[in-house]
Amino acid sequence: MASHLSKALASKADSLREQIRRWDYAYYSLDNPEVSDAEYDAAYLELRQIEEENPDLVTPDSPTQRVGGEAGEQFAKVKHRSPMLSLQNAFDEEEIRAWDRRVRAVVGDDVAYTGELKIDGLAISLTYSKGRLTRAATRGDGLVGEDVTANLRTLKSVPLSVRPASGLPDEFEVRGEVYFPIKAFEKLNEEMDAQGRPRFVNPRNTAAGSVRQLDPNVTASRNLQTFMYTLDPAGAARSQWEALDAVEKMGFRVNRNRRRLAGVEEVIAYHRHWEEHRDDLDHEIDGVVVKVDRHDEQLELGFVSRSPRWAIAFKYAPQTAESVVEDISVYVGRTGVLTPVAHIRPLIVGGVTVRNVTMHNEDQVNEKGVHVGARVVVHRAGDVIPEIVSVIDPKPGWRMPARCPQCGGEVVREEPYVAHRCINPFCPAQRLERLRHFGGVMDIEGLGYSTLQQLIERDLVQDPSDFYGLTQEQLVELEHFGPKSAANLVERIAASKTPELARFLGALGIPQVGWATAELLGAEFGSLERVRDASEENLRAVEGIGPSLASELRRFFQGQGGELLDKLLAAGVQPEAAAPPSEGPLTGKTLVFTGTLEAMSRPDAEALVRSLGGKAAGSVSSKTDYLVAGPGAGSKLEKAERLKVSVLSEQEFLDLVGHESS
Ligand code: NAD
Repeated sequence: MASHLSKALASKADSLREQIRRWDYAYYSLDNPEVSDAEYDAAYLELRQIEEENPDLVTPDSPTQRVGGEAGEQFAKVKHRSPMLSLQNAFDEEEIRAWDRRVRAVVGDDVAYTGELKIDGLAISLTYSKGRLTRAATRGDGLVGEDVTANLRTLKSVPLSVRPASGLPDEFEVRGEVYFPIKAFEKLNEEMDAQGRPRFVNPRNTAAGSVRQLDPNVTASRNLQTFMYTLDPAGAARSQWEALDAVEKMGFRVNRNRRRLAGVEEVIAYHRHWEEHRDDLDHEIDGVVVKVDRHDEQLELGFVSRSPRWAIAFKYAPQTAESVVEDISVYVGRTGVLTPVAHIRPLIVGGVTVRNVTMHNEDQVNEKGVHVGARVVVHRAGDVIPEIVSVIDPKPGWRMPARCPQCGGEVVREEPYVAHRCINPFCPAQRLERLRHFGGVMDIEGLGYSTLQQLIERDLVQDPSDFYGLTQEQLVELEHFGPKSAANLVERIAASKTPELARFLGALGIPQVGWATAELLGAEFGSLERVRDASEENLRAVEGIGPSLASELRRFFQGQGGELLDKLLAAGVQPEAAAPPSEGPLTGKTLVFTGTLEAMSRPDAEALVRSLGGKAAGSVSSKTDYLVAGPGAGSKLEKAERLKVSVLSEQEFLDLVGHESS
């Protein structure tokens, strides 16, 4: 039995090694990865765990025993003076705390760390003899790299000669990372587009490919950058911090976002800070690197097989990953708009599993060249909705179906909209979505898809006004309902009869009307009758309501929307008039928010503005009083500057409201 098991484990380890070797070759030698880093890391971790638990299964040529990839054939091989190692990884707080405990157990509790960004590029080593650059090499397998001197000499940030820092011998090495700045990468891809050539997939592999060119002119044309972080030997420097200063003083580019960190709490805060701000950088990072600062303590800690014990990469969940489109389906929304959805092979990106990626419309599918079977790069950061950023093998030609996939009704594309729409008002998919939307916005718990589906099938509910006539006897007949849950739902529906006006307007499902517009309408008109009776002209006079929205609103209230309203009123629903706008420091002022806010979410900031008597609008116009711009602000900021609208930082905004409201 035991031998059966160990045989199975041995063959599992073998196949993992085989697979990882193939992936390593594609990644390090061809600069063209076959799988996402997340998939690679998972396989690597599995192999390492098997080997750790069964040391007799470790083979000398296992990928866990080496660093990186092999030196390529096309370059001369160079042996590194000392091995270029890899780093241990930590993926969460628990792992970093465990590492910190291990470190303190050896060097004591007053250990200090240096925090650096983990630049997602290609490791390089530069050798200087008597102050002159004599050799530049890639890391290769850590022991033997490739001689890429001719190529790296073309990089402007690589000094060809330096005045050695104090205490350095005749020959010393500076190590660091070559990377592709994001802007330069985007520009390169624009050039590729213009020439009708395939785009590059990611900056990291493109940087590696650009360094490993046979023609140095190609490298020179790519605008690569460097950040250096290791001095070997360290000369007079006694710590990593001093070494970084010495490297910078010699004229190398050293990343300025390094920090001294007094303990593990500061390490965690540093990691978190850059996780939130990584998108503000002009280069990719995949984590932060934490190093025991003092060299004597580093020496005490020493090395494990392929990485130092005194340093660790505290990684971030990858924000982009590769997958394959298995199918493209079409989703029908509550207004009949058809939305293409790519179903991809599930992958973990931005910390969650992504299976479906929504695209806007047919044009977008084709501009990107998404097709069934396409290899795609998916991006997801923070709470942002996942997106297909590029397609490795694009193919245009995907078409929206001519008939609604749910009801078979006619599909039209109404100019000037780019969306296709099912125009059958009785389309069950639209009805389901409209009911779901109403229940969700009115906050009636218990009206999920499966309940709604049953209500529709039994013909108990056609439109939202029918909810108010439902009885306990009817609901108890539905699947998953008992007498108690049926009574509860009847009660919750009844309790929703006096909604706030804005909520009620939002729940009606008027095309183009989301939360912000519903609030705006509620605040501006004060009662349902006045919104309903407002002329197109009156509607257009409201800041934030354009001509297309004004005519949409009129159309809604004059047509089916008006009928629905009458039915809802007849069923006893009575929206409560909004309180008159309160007087406050922002009375009569219109504010717009853009970029990332740090102290509060955008909806909270907008609610704060309204509570102080101001208006929060979605776009900048000459009527805007202030634009509050956080990091990442783009076109709105440009427009505000053009229109000479006052621009406030988040702090200035808080000062404004805090100061005046106190
Ligand atoms: P690593 O990326 O986990 O970390 C070590 C490297 O970090 C160093 O060699 C150095 O180049 C870099 N680094 C950046 N900033 C640094 C700083 N401030 N201080 C010190 N070092 C810094 O390890 P690795 O061995 O380079 O690469 C392994 C990783 O590459 C894997 O975890 C995987 O994600 C990826 N990989 C992917 C595939 C694939 O097929 N997708 C294949 C092979 C490897």
